[in-house]
Amino acid sequence: MKKYTIAMVAHDAKKEVMAELVKRYSEKLSQLNLVATRTTGQNIMEKSGMPVTLLQSGPMGGDQQVGALVAEGKLEAVIFLRDPLFAQPHEPDISALMRVCDVHNTALATNLATAEAVLNQLFEKAGL
Ligand code: PGA
Repeated sequence: MKKYTIAMVAHDAKKEVMAELVKRYSEKLSQLNLVATRTTGQNIMEKSGMPVTLLQSGPMGGDQQVGALVAEGKLEAVIFLRDPLFAQPHEPDISALMRVCDVHNTALATNLATAEAVLNQLFEKAGL
């Protein structure tokens, strides 16, 4: 059974970056459970062929679902590639997700550099 679960969320401007990231680390990521907000997850599956458990789309409550998983202690890390240039209509949910990661001291990567750092640390922890 796969031991670790990570969540992935990418705003539209970052969806390709996320899919590329998953493709690049696909071998090791295949040893983890991946959950993602709907459109992000669909894009990852399409581009990488990696299985992803789909939550609701972000604007439909997906960020809140990720937050709930964090609160329940179900996630090792959240990779959340935000669009830093444009406010999203569901900004309150985004802030809430980042807050709950801080409350529970769950690793939260909001750009590619930290995403790679978090993934590499997790791979090491998982013995991959
Ligand atoms: P999406 O949601 O993956 O369904 O696009 C991401 C978000 O904007 O929070």
